Amino acid sequence: MSNPHGLSKNLHSITEEAKIFARSITDTIREPILILNKDFQIVSASESFYVRFRIESDVAEGTLVFELDDDQWDISELKKLLQKVIKEQKSFKDHQITANFRNLGCRSFLVNVNLLNTRSHDAPLVIISFKEVIIPFPELQQKEYLKKLQNILENAPAMICIVKGPQHIFEVANEHYYQLIGKQDIIGKPVREVLPEVENQGFFEILDNVYTSGKPFIGNEVQINLEVGDNKYKNSFLDFVYQPMLDDNGEVDGIFVHVIDVTEKVEVRKKVEENEFRLKNLIDTVPAIIWITTKDGYSTYLNENWYKYTGQNAREAENFGWLEAVHPEDRDEAGNQFLDASKRRKSYSYTYRLRTASGEYRWVRDRGQPKFNAAGEFEGMVGTVLEVHEEKIKEQQIQEKEHRIRNIVEEATVATAVYTGKDLKIEIANEAMIRLWGKDKAVVGKNLPQALPELENQPFFEILQEVYSTGKIYWGQEDKVDLMIDDRIQTGYFNFTYKPLRDEKGEIYGILNMALDVTENVKSKLLLKESESYFRQIADLMPDKVTNTDEEGNFLYFNQNWLQYSGLNSEELNSRFWTDLIHPEDRELFAKKWQESLNTGRNFEFEARFRNKFDKYRWHLSRAEAVREETGNIKMWIGTNTEIHKIKEEEKRKEDFLKMVSHELKTPVTSIKGYVQLLLSMVKSGQKKDFSSLPLAPSLERIDHQIIRLTRLISEMLDLSRLEENKLELQKEVFSINDLVTETVQDINYTNTQHKIEIIHDYKCSIFADKDRIGQVLINFITNAIKYSPESQEILIKIQKARNNKVSVSVKDHGIGIDRKNHKNIFKRFYRIGGKSEETYSGFGIGLYLANEIIQRHKGHIAVKSKKGKGSDFSFILSVASEK
Ligand code: ADP
Repeated sequence: MSNPHGLSKNLHSITEEAKIFARSITDTIREPILILNKDFQIVSASESFYVRFRIESDVAEGTLVFELDDDQWDISELKKLLQKVIKEQKSFKDHQITANFRNLGCRSFLVNVNLLNTRSHDAPLVIISFKEVIIPFPELQQKEYLKKLQNILENAPAMICIVKGPQHIFEVANEHYYQLIGKQDIIGKPVREVLPEVENQGFFEILDNVYTSGKPFIGNEVQINLEVGDNKYKNSFLDFVYQPMLDDNGEVDGIFVHVIDVTEKVEVRKKVEENEFRLKNLIDTVPAIIWITTKDGYSTYLNENWYKYTGQNAREAENFGWLEAVHPEDRDEAGNQFLDASKRRKSYSYTYRLRTASGEYRWVRDRGQPKFNAAGEFEGMVGTVLEVHEEKIKEQQIQEKEHRIRNIVEEATVATAVYTGKDLKIEIANEAMIRLWGKDKAVVGKNLPQALPELENQPFFEILQEVYSTGKIYWGQEDKVDLMIDDRIQTGYFNFTYKPLRDEKGEIYGILNMALDVTENVKSKLLLKESESYFRQIADLMPDKVTNTDEEGNFLYFNQNWLQYSGLNSEELNSRFWTDLIHPEDRELFAKKWQESLNTGRNFEFEARFRNKFDKYRWHLSRAEAVREETGNIKMWIGTNTEIHKIKEEEKRKEDFLKMVSHELKTPVTSIKGYVQLLLSMVKSGQKKDFSSLPLAPSLERIDHQIIRLTRLISEMLDLSRLEENKLELQKEVFSINDLVTETVQDINYTNTQHKIEIIHDYKCSIFADKDRIGQVLINFITNAIKYSPESQEILIKIQKARNNKVSVSVKDHGIGIDRKNHKNIFKRFYRIGGKSEETYSGFGIGLYLANEIIQRHKGHIAVKSKKGKGSDFSFILSVASEK
């Protein structure tokens, strides 16, 4: 690019004189003249120059000549010529320059170039004159055309030649063409001569055909075998056009041949095709279905397996035809999933039912990946289809099973839950379980320790972990569980199981928990236990012997009294009850009655003797009553055994007493009756009118004696009944005990003739007591002493001072005495020492009983000192009222 300032500076260096000089030249010459300085800048130009070349004069001056008129003057021939002029410092004449001007078209000029030296300037001016040469246009055009054609031919990437005439004689050929055929000297020669090796390859025939028919021929990837050296041949693939060329008359006079060598392309493609073929074969041998789709999701390739599997053919499966083989229920989703993945260029996976060639649907998993080329452009998807039928069916079965289990669990009335994993995630928990926990549905999905934190310090989490690691089922039996229900800890009791759940491999994956609330049972059991223990406590406290049997009469329990009585423990008692404890005489009847009660449920009552730990049988009243449930069924029997030995004995004594009373009554009455009858008969018979002769006195004495006995008997009986009715009233007074003893002995002595009764008044005092009753005691003591001392006559009565301001009165005999063991018994009602004495000595066995009672009521003390055969010493002690 030129610098306008620089230029004008240069131009200014040209003297005004030179300018004027130049101007005067240009103005005088008619032809177009251009004057330049040595740098080829326009110093001046003739008017005719501007006119001829249609350039505006004011634009031109100072411009570099080659830039003139938008570089139209950048004419290489002109440039060369001017440079030569400057270099060689010589002028040129009639140098022809042809240039194509925009405004004028193609023009040829004869150019004269002269150097003009001026005086004031070292550098000469360059004067160029133009004379237009009129070249006939066609010639110019043809020349231009040929030049252009040559240019095109040389530069064209194709191999080009033109053959003329029916012999197809080479007229023109470019370099590429020469290279193709490997020959140079071909122009003017017919093709058959130039390329004899091509004979029989079909090309000449095509050329002939084009020439005669005038129709072009296009060959694609046609193989040609050319000789490239001596006996060296080469196979090439050519895309070519045989284009007929017409002459002025419209007749074919040649053929334009345009060839592109596509050998490389074809070979590459063939290689690709071969690879593809091999790949396809490989793909077909893979035991999977393989597919390829386009960018838009159209299926372009499916391997053999698809067709074999589905029975579709290529046409049926192409594009989206493959979806027709998908189960109608899965089809839309499969299509959508695939298209979505393809659109988003993401991987795709979907499991659906695919129709097999036999028409059966089987589950397959279709998986695809986006495919990108080397440039990273998305080319479509490629994927595989694998049969997963068996797995899917199994999975479905498992799911169904799981679903069923879930349903069963949900529906179950038993509280049920399933925990999975070591975290004990609550996988399932049915209504009943959630209610049992006192929680809501939100616990499902949580981990158990999180859902039931109150179990933290209870053993269950540990047990669960243990079940997990050992695989052993845990059975909870009435286990106590504290649960947070309604915001407070509540205790419940549960029967439950922790059962490990195993997967197909036998590995534990969870725990099934089923629980039964037995709180009520346990509580009532506890209550029962409590009441049972109460019962036992009460039973143990009872003076009776208490037993408890089950509904069938099997002994369950004997109370403490039984153990003490028998000297046995519960088990021994149980086993020996029937054989040892019941008296052999009572046993059979006892068993019979007991069985009757068991059969009928009626109360049992029986008197029997039971053996005690001293091997003595004692009378008992056995009673048993059935305890029934609300339904009326017998639950158990409770039995009591009351010792009635004493009662029995007393009864016996009573019996004996009655026997004796009747005997005692009968004896005096019979005796009295005898005497009375004797006397009466004697009086009636009149044998003895004189009463004095009658044995009146001894008879009356006898009668009186008997009456005294009767009176005593009657009064004792009266006292007895009074005592029993608690109506024995004491008429207390202060009297001298010494006097009472003396008086009583005096009274007795009226009827006592044999015994000598001595009284020793060691101590004299008065007592505050019922005088008659104390007298009665004294009479009893003394009459007994007389009665039971048939062999001895000495009776000694002592009145002595006793400790604590008391007085003791004792009656001592030397009679039959009393065995030690009977000392206590003789004070009991109706007790009489058995054996001979019973018959020998008359009596009722109530005298000492009454004596004891009387003394007791006076807050006194009665005692006996005696040995069998060694006499007896009966005494009583009473408080002293005053000493004498
Ligand atoms: P009984 O009317 O039989 O005498 P008691 O109650 O007076 O009734 O006496 C009870 C029994 O005590 C008598 O049957 C007798 O066996 C015995 N007994 C009472 N006193 C004496 C005694 N002094 N010597 C021997 N045995 C006596």
